[in-house]
This record gives sequence, structure tokens and C-alpha cells, in this order.
Amino acid sequence: MNPQPPLAAPQAAPNRVILALITVTAVSFFTTMYVLLYRGNGDSVNMVTTIVLGAILNVGLLICYIRARDYELLALFVPLATFFFYTINCFVMQSFAQYFLIYVAICALAAIHQNGKSLIRFMVISNLVILFLIGWRFLFGGTGFFYQVNVIPQYIAALSCVLFIYWVQRSFGRQNAAVDGARDAFNTLMETTPNMLALLDNKNCITYISRKMADFAHIANPEITQGRPFLDLFHDIALKRMIGEILDGEKPIETTSTITIDNITRHFSIHAATIAGTDAGVYLDIIDITSEVSARLEAEAASQAKSSFLANMSHEIRTPLNAVIGLTEVELQHHRGDSICESLRKVRSSADHLLHIINDMLDISKIENNKLELITAEYSLASLISDAAQVNRTRVGDKPIAFCVEVDENLPQRLFGDELRIRQILNNLLSNAIKYTHAGEVRLKVQWIAKESKVAGVGVANAVGAGVLRLIVQDTGIGIRVEDKCKLFTAYEQVDTKANRGIEGTGLGLSITMRLVRLMDGSLDFESVHGKGSTFVVELPQVVVDATPLGESVAQRLRSFSLEDGAGEVKVVEATETFKGTKVLVVDDIDVNLEVARGMMECYELDIECVTSGQDAVEAVRRCNDYAIVFMDHMMPGMDGIEATIAIRSQIGTSYAQTVPIVALTANALEGARDMFLENGFTDFLAKPIDFASLDTLLRKLLDNRSEQTNAEPALVGIDDRKGDRNE
Ligand code: ADP
Repeated sequence: MNPQPPLAAPQAAPNRVILALITVTAVSFFTTMYVLLYRGNGDSVNMVTTIVLGAILNVGLLICYIRARDYELLALFVPLATFFFYTINCFVMQSFAQYFLIYVAICALAAIHQNGKSLIRFMVISNLVILFLIGWRFLFGGTGFFYQVNVIPQYIAALSCVLFIYWVQRSFGRQNAAVDGARDAFNTLMETTPNMLALLDNKNCITYISRKMADFAHIANPEITQGRPFLDLFHDIALKRMIGEILDGEKPIETTSTITIDNITRHFSIHAATIAGTDAGVYLDIIDITSEVSARLEAEAASQAKSSFLANMSHEIRTPLNAVIGLTEVELQHHRGDSICESLRKVRSSADHLLHIINDMLDISKIENNKLELITAEYSLASLISDAAQVNRTRVGDKPIAFCVEVDENLPQRLFGDELRIRQILNNLLSNAIKYTHAGEVRLKVQWIAKESKVAGVGVANAVGAGVLRLIVQDTGIGIRVEDKCKLFTAYEQVDTKANRGIEGTGLGLSITMRLVRLMDGSLDFESVHGKGSTFVVELPQVVVDATPLGESVAQRLRSFSLEDGAGEVKVVEATETFKGTKVLVVDDIDVNLEVARGMMECYELDIECVTSGQDAVEAVRRCNDYAIVFMDHMMPGMDGIEATIAIRSQIGTSYAQTVPIVALTANALEGARDMFLENGFTDFLAKPIDFASLDTLLRKLLDNRSEQTNAEPALVGIDDRKGDRNE
């Protein structure tokens, strides 16, 4: 086979030169046979005539082979012309001695053209001619071969041979077609593949290379590379080294490589394998993935830039919000019952709303970047419910809405999952229900569906079972129109905006909720009747770590978070206990933040000391070893919070400095921040704007442990470390 033949014509044809040679040889052979016959008989006239006719036929056929464009016609014309030539010759010479033998030979000549259609046409025409001649003999009589008695058996024998030739040609033709098809496909592949392909022999010399590989090596004609050592195609040292390593390496190879060619960094995906067989060679497939890798790197850089922009924005927006929310909180404590109190509540509620929007934006951006991850840990189910119920019942405000909590006493006490995100799901659904209900009822139902559990395989060390946590949020609100139902979970999409005018929202809540539910392998369904109300049902598979049922008394306490119509009000939170004289250190470079922290902790009667830099914090802890907690801001000029904490833990050298609780105060609320702080020596983490309830929980957790006091009457049995009981 030609090493790199041009793309084959649609109809694969045998080589014309070979065909022409065979035909001319055959015609010359039979002409010679006749000439010898006539010479033997001393018939010189016939001898010369045969030579002239044979020569004319040969020249004519050669011209046909050279000039004819239509191969199918050529494949018919050549045998037909030869057949007529011999038939006429026999008539002229009145000698039919070898007629059928030559006829069979001409059929074979037709068959080597490998064109089934032309062969069958030739056979039909030639047989009609022969039958006509035989018929002529019977009708009109005469002399010569066709008038011999045994012409019929000779014809039948010849016809059998011809049919056999036809059968052989058809069967080989099919196989040839398959081979031709494979060759055409191979050629097309080598010509058009965007991959740089090379087939090498066992000495790493080229058998075939694809057009792309030739282009890469700056070679115009791939054919001329056959037999050359593959490495010789390339001149760039780095490229030579890369290919040398592939050729020398253990096959198969599946790798990527980055090299610099002409001062440009190029990336390649490389696949190399040994070609099986006695003369085993190498198959090499190199793809230039420079543009894809560059695009990916650019996208990653953009995503990285977006993430750090978000982190910065989050920090920048939260810092002033911290001041607004914190100082409002402090002022609310001072102005309880005053006329200004109502305005302060509105300020706080607006700031809360703004914070909510920022959190939603951060979440949706994380979701869009596939950066949202679940952080799973053990949690108390009662605590989760109490938290969600308390936060949301305050949202009812003075609307004539009854807020009901239905809790099954058989719920397991402790589960394993992402508590924060489940709480977020509940908050989204409950806040929507309250937002979109003007009067009537909002009902939260929490149910547990235990599974015939296969505890093995849940991947949690102390798992005792598994099941599905079902959260149902029902309301008698405005409901959702049928045509709006499909838009509900689309980000930034708010439905029925006309009816909902005046209701605050971003259109992100349900979209985030749906993504969170999916991330937890759960499901979210809803039913809604426009004008009557909606029911949202979330089912989340959870692992049980303590299957003890909550019991009737805890369930009863949780149900007690229910509100009668319009009894909801925004309560001012109060400290659950005081820690008179306990010393804490607050570190923040922004004065207003120190003021907020001071104001929010005032009601605990703590002895609060403030410093404005990381360096001062280290010195303060070195000097004084009786701070019960150090609240440390993260981003500060000079030594930041992390550096200061590391310095406190490692440089001061006292056991006090190594163990004093240090709580990160940060406006960086991005995923992973908590882990990052804990890994760097912090004891806990408090997000800014500081939420009073979280602060309360944290103070109680750290200071109660310190004085080894036990909280005499926790708000809820099993709700030990949560902020949920603060209003009770
Ligand atoms: P938003 O922040 O605007 O509430 P969501 O994604 O939470 O965004 O909700 C999308 C839309 O779904 C809302 O604009 C509202 O029209 C509709 N919706 C959500 N929950 C309810 C509900 N309980 N009752 C009626 N409509 C609802």
C-alpha cells in the first residue's frame, strides 16, 4: 500500500496500470496463439490479419485505460471489445477452435476489473450474442464451428465456468469492499484528525503520521516522512526531549506535558501505546491542549478573583453593618419602652434584612462556583427546631397569624448532618410562609421516618441508625399561581410581583434552598393553591447518633413556641446570666467595633479591656494572665488576628497563653473561615455583625465551663449549647 495515498475516490478501483498490463498481455497471448495456429496451417493471410487486428485492439484498449474517466464503463468496454474482436476474428477466419476457451478467459479479464455491475452487463451482452449465433445456426444452417453438433455441451461448460467466475468475483468483491472501506476510513482519519497521530515501527521510524503531525513538524507532505526516525522530524530541544521520554518510557503512557517552544508555553495531552503484533511498534497520539488549559487557568483565576472579591466585599459590607446592628442592639437595651425604640427596631430589622441579602448573594455565588460544601457534625434536633421556631415567630410581628409548631415526641435526640444549612432551609421556608401570609396560620411540622437501617456504610463512626428528617411548612397565605410554579426555584426570579409588591425579597431563597436540599441528597416538594396557601415538604436523609426519643416534655416545650394570632413581637434579647468582674480582652482596630462589642457585653457586667492592634493584644496577654476570653478581630493592619493568635500561643510560653480561649471576630463569612481559624489556634468563631444570641451562647459556653458552673436550668433538656432558649 502506498504509505500515504491521497484520499480514495468514492468507488475504490484497482490500479489501472496493472489492469492495462494484464489486458494487453492477455490479448497478446491469444493473438500469438492464433498466429501460431495459422502459421502451422501455413495460412499467412489470416496470420497477418490476426496480428494487425490484435495490435489495433491492444492500442485501442491502452488508449481507453489512459483516457477513460468513467471506470464502470471502462470495466465493461474492455472485455466487451475483446470479446467482439475474437468473435469477429473467428468469423473472418472461419475458425472457432478455441472460441469458448477464449470466452472464459475474457470473462476472467472482465472479473479482474472488480466491478460487479460491469461484469454482469458483460455476461448478459456476450451470452445474448452467443445465443444469437447458436440460434442462427439452427435456423439457417451453415458451416464452421457453430454448425458443429457438440456446440451446446461446450457452451454449457463455458457458461458454468463463467458463472463460477462471477460467484468468485462477488465474494472477493465484498471482502475487497471491506478492506477498501477500512483503508478509506484510515486515510480520512489521518488526513482530518485534529490529533497529532503517529504509527512507528519497532525502531521508532515512521510508518504513518497524520496531517496534523506533519503540520506540527512543518512538513508539507506527510508521505515523504515514511521510514525516517520520528525524532528527526523535530528540531526544538524541549520538544525532542519530551518525545524522547515518551518513546523510551514504559507503555502505555497517559500523561500531560507542559513545555516552552519558541518562548511560548504549550500544553500537550499524550497517549502512547505499543502496537500488538510480531513487528510491534508504537502508536502515539499527541493533542495540543494549550488553548483549553489556558482557558481553564483563566477561568480559575477569574473564579479566584471573584472569590476574593466576594470575601473582601463581604468583609467590607459586614464591618459597617456590624456597627449598625450592634449599636442599634445596644441602644435598644437602653431605650426599652421609649418612643425611639420603635425607630430603633426598624433600623435593626432593615439592617437584618440587608445582612440576609448579603448572605443570600454570597451563597448563590458559592453555589454558582460549585464552592458550597456541607460541613457535617453531630447536632441536637431539639435545639435546631427551637432555634428556627424562635427566630421565625418574631417575624410574625403584629400580623394576625397563628404560628404553630408540631413536633413528634419520637424524634431522635441527636443526628449527624449540616445543622447550619438545615436551619437555613427551615428559615427560608418559614420566613417565606410568614412573608406571603397576611392572615391565618403558619405551621411547622417536624417528623422522623426511621429506616430499616443499614448502619454500616453511612460513614459516621458512632452512627446508630439512619432515617429521613421531614420538615413541613404550611401556610394559609396568598399561594402560588399554576403558571408561576415552574419559576419558583429559578435564582433571581420572583413570581407574582404585582401581588407581592411591598414584600421584601431577592428571589434567591428558594433557589438556594433547593440546591442545599440536593446537596444533602434530599427532596423538596410543594403544593400550593392560589389564594388558599402553600405547603412545602423537605425530606433530608440523616444519620442518627443518639436514637433516644426527645420525649413528651421536650416536645411539649418545643410546641410551646407556638404563638396565638398576632402575639408575635420583636423582643429585645436579654442576657441569660451575668459574669460580674470576669475580665475579657477585645481586639479590634476599628473603634466603632470596640464600642459595639463593649455595648453588647455590657449587660453581662464583664470587665472589658480593649486594644487596637495584634501587637498590643500579644503584649496584653503577656502582661496579664486573667482574661477569661480574648475576642480577636481578623483583619487588622500590621499584625493581623491570626498572626497575633499564633504569637500568643507560641511566643509567650506560659500555659495560660497556650490555653486562653481566643474567639475570632470576623466579617469574613466565606465557607471554610471557621476551619481556618480553628486550625490556627483559635478556640471559636463569631461572625460579624455579632448576633446577640450567638454571643450569649458563646459566653455561657466558655465562661460556665471555666467556673465549672452548670447551668441550673437549661431552657430545654438536650438543648445545652444553643442560643435557642434565650427568650424563654
Ligand atoms: P424571595 O426572597 O423573593 O422570597 P424566594 O426564592 O424565597 O425569593 O421565593 C421566590 C418566589 O416564590 C417569591 O417571590 C414568592 O412569589 C414565591 N413564594 C415563595 N414561598 C411562598 C409562599 N409560602 N407562599 C406564596 N408564594 C411564595
